Amino acid sequence: MYHIDLQGLYKTYPGSTEAAVKNLSLAVEKGEIVTLLGPSGCGKTTTLRLIAGFERPDQGTISLGGRIVSSKSNWVPPEKRGIGMVFQDYALFPHLTVFDNVGFGYRERDKAERVREVLAIVDLQGYEKRYPHELSGGQQQRVALARALARRPIVVLLDEPFSNLDADLRTQMRVEVKDIIKEANATAVFVTHDQKDALAISDRIVVMRHGVIQQLGTPREIYQYP
Ligand code: ADP
Ligand code: ADP
Repeated sequence: MYHIDLQGLYKTYPGSTEAAVKNLSLAVEKGEIVTLLGPSGCGKTTTLRLIAGFERPDQGTISLGGRIVSSKSNWVPPEKRGIGMVFQDYALFPHLTVFDNVGFGYRERDKAERVREVLAIVDLQGYEKRYPHELSGGQQQRVALARALARRPIVVLLDEPFSNLDADLRTQMRVEVKDIIKEANATAVFVTHDQKDALAISDRIVVMRHGVIQQLGTPREIYQYP
């Protein structure tokens, strides 16, 4: 059983003549980091939004953690899919501390402990009382990642999380994010148009073009790398 299982997904947006995603199938193992790579408009974000449940496919089935969350007869809404998301703009609440940002929406009794735990994973112990504007871009991105991990998501989705970082920080964050995801034992789907991101972070790369998978393999298989 695959941890993420996409079968035969089709999505055409209303008013559009061409499908954004066509007969897309992809199986991801638990603990894997899979990158959707390809030029603007190839269907990466649509795929991510289908997994998250922000869009409903016209056809096809999506299973997460062995549960069907989207099919002709099943629909699980986004907030019930066990998804953690990281976006390019971090989307931290500016008026909340790091602690409250990371713990936002986490209602379990072990909240304080869990927040400390994920802050340790992203190497931000002791930053609980800071506000986002008191942090660097890389630190803010790590807070966003901690928030995504806090609820022990079945799947972490990362949509171009490095695009607002300068080149040096981007290079550093690629390695850090990979280590953090692995340490958290999370399964991740990562979207980028940057080949270097894909090479640095992925267990497998999905190269997309015009809504279809053009190539699928390890970085080594796809780019004879490293
Ligand atoms: P990518 O993330 O690879 O840039 P997208 O999944 O955003 O690609 O887009 C795939 C295709 O779907 C593009 O042709 C895009 O113009 C179209 N598209 C994306 N979102 C919408 C939308 N909300 N309405 C209509 N067309 C859309
Ligand atoms: P709303 O406006 O209904 O709160 P959003 O557009 O902010 O919805 O997000 C849509 C869904 O994605 C929500 O159900 C929310 O729980 C979930 N969501 C948004 N951001 C995150 C995140 N960082 N981690 C986990 N789930 C998230």
